[in-house]
Order: sequence, then C-alpha cells, then structure tokens
Amino acid sequence: MATPLTTTLHGSCYCKRNTYTITPGPFEFAPGDPYKDFGPPPYVYYDHCSDCRKLQSSLLLGWIRAPRSWYTHTTHPRSTSETDQEIFKLLVSSSSSPSSPSSSDITGPTRNFCGFCGTHLLFLGSSCRRDGWVEIPLGSLDDGSLEMLEGMGLKPDFHTWWRSAIGWVKRDLVEGRAKGEGKCWRGEVEEGVEGEGLEAVPEGFRE
Ligand SMILES: [Zn+2]
Repeated sequence: MATPLTTTLHGSCYCKRNTYTITPGPFEFAPGDPYKDFGPPPYVYYDHCSDCRKLQSSLLLGWIRAPRSWYTHTTHPRSTSETDQEIFKLLVSSSSSPSSPSSSDITGPTRNFCGFCGTHLLFLGSSCRRDGWVEIPLGSLDDGSLEMLEGMGLKPDFHTWWRSAIGWVKRDLVEGRAKGEGKCWRGEVEEGVEGEGLEAVPEGFRE
C-alpha cells in the first residue's frame, strides 16, 4: 500500500538543462481509476517491461507515478539558440513514429528525454492521460530525494511486468545476489535489492 508523500521531490537530467519537482497537493481519483485500490499517491515500483528496458537501456527500472498536478518541469537553456522543445524532447513511443509532433495532437503514449544528454524524464501512457498521472523514471530523481524515499516509506514495493523480466535478472533478484555478494568492482558493497518485494506484487500488475 502506498504511503503519502510528505515533501517535495527534486529531479533533473544529467546535464541539468531539465529540472522538475513533485510537490504533494490536493488529489482526487478520476472515476474508475484502478489505482484507487492502492491508497494515496504516489506509487513507486520496479518495472520489467521490455519496451522500457530498451528505451532506458537498463536491466532494472524504477518509476514514480504521481498526479500530474504535482509535477512541475523547468527547462534551463544555456544559450538563446536552445529551445524548450530541444531540451525537453518529446518522442512518440511507437517505433514507427520517431517524430516530435506538437503535444496537442497526441493521444497515445509519449516519452520525454533531454535532447542534449539523453536522460529519460517522463512517460505519459494512455491511462496517465485519461486519469491525470505522470510516470517519472526513478533514476532521474536527484540523489537527495532518492535517499529520502526510504524514510517516507516510498521505496519500490512491487514489480510490474515481472513476466517480461530477463530470466537471470529474476533469479538474481529472488535469490538475493543483487545484495552485493561476490565480486564488486570499485565502491562499497551495500545492501541492495531485496527479494521480499516480490510478494507485494498486486494481482493487477503481474503482467
Ligand atoms: Zn540533459
């Protein structure tokens, strides 16, 4: 069950031309929104879908799903020639439509990336558009905000698209190898992903 967000979270792209905040505020569920069963927003979870794995070039992804009204995005151009559209680059998710149409024309899923450093910053799926949500790659949160999630009870507590996870990634998560046992290249060995979250996958998110 999700825990309420109690403070503003801050995020950015690698080059810092994009920054954003997620600030808790009033929220009402849209009629029929299935997330109503999971308690108050936001929702923080791991994702194993193959599209996101490829688009983020990452074996293990995390997301935070928050009301769209809580999300504020700002661009920081470094010269007068850099446009907001270049900095917060909009891509239609379909691989056959890699164009950047105007947002008013779009009804399907979209993603925004930094047009300069490539950081994935935002996903808007059809349910986000319908029910007023944004989904933000967890890794784009700034370190301080990521650290705060644990204290607020907002660490990822379920795995979406588990069936699409790569077999050995699943086994490593279940068996706990990702905790840092064995070889570690540079840096400290820290306690990492725990398999216990797997038991918390809600029925509706199992595939
Ligand atoms: Zn950037």
